[in-house]
Amino acid sequence: MFGAGPEDTSLVLVGEAPGEQEDLQGEPFVGPSGYLLTRLLERAGWERDAIYITNIVKCRPPNNRDPDPHEVHKCIPHLRAQLALIKPRVIVTAGKHATWYMTNHYGPLGALMRMEGLQYGHLKPPVPVVPVYHPSYLLRLGEAAKAPMKDTVTRFKQARELAETAK
Ligand code: URA
Repeated sequence: MFGAGPEDTSLVLVGEAPGEQEDLQGEPFVGPSGYLLTRLLERAGWERDAIYITNIVKCRPPNNRDPDPHEVHKCIPHLRAQLALIKPRVIVTAGKHATWYMTNHYGPLGALMRMEGLQYGHLKPPVPVVPVYHPSYLLRLGEAAKAPMKDTVTRFKQARELAETAK
């Protein structure tokens, strides 16, 4: 599952890996986490259809386990090629795996979210990276998801501003 969306977009959202539904349908974020992602993007003023959505790993890891570094190593050249073609102004990373491999900073997601100036350095000029909570994580939080969801919407808005100021 390579990705979906317009190739002339200013924003690329990078997730972790396709789940079962994504693998079957060949579309990213089509299950419950995709539904939530679409709602959160809309709250921030982004049309889901206006952005390109893809993942670090292009095939579903068995039993939805975390992608292992070997799988990431195999898949990342495809992602780098996608980004080189699209040349986004901003990259939003959903969850820690996407954030690690896009920024080369490997820490807890909360710490990375507090870091200023995260960038994807494989394009010239480097592209700002805005990490957000992974929608599947937000779904697992249940009632406790209210504040992190609000934070996610704020980050999508920041990504919008960055995309617009970089024009
Ligand atoms: N989770 C992801 O990280 N990516 C998808 O495409 C679907 C669920």
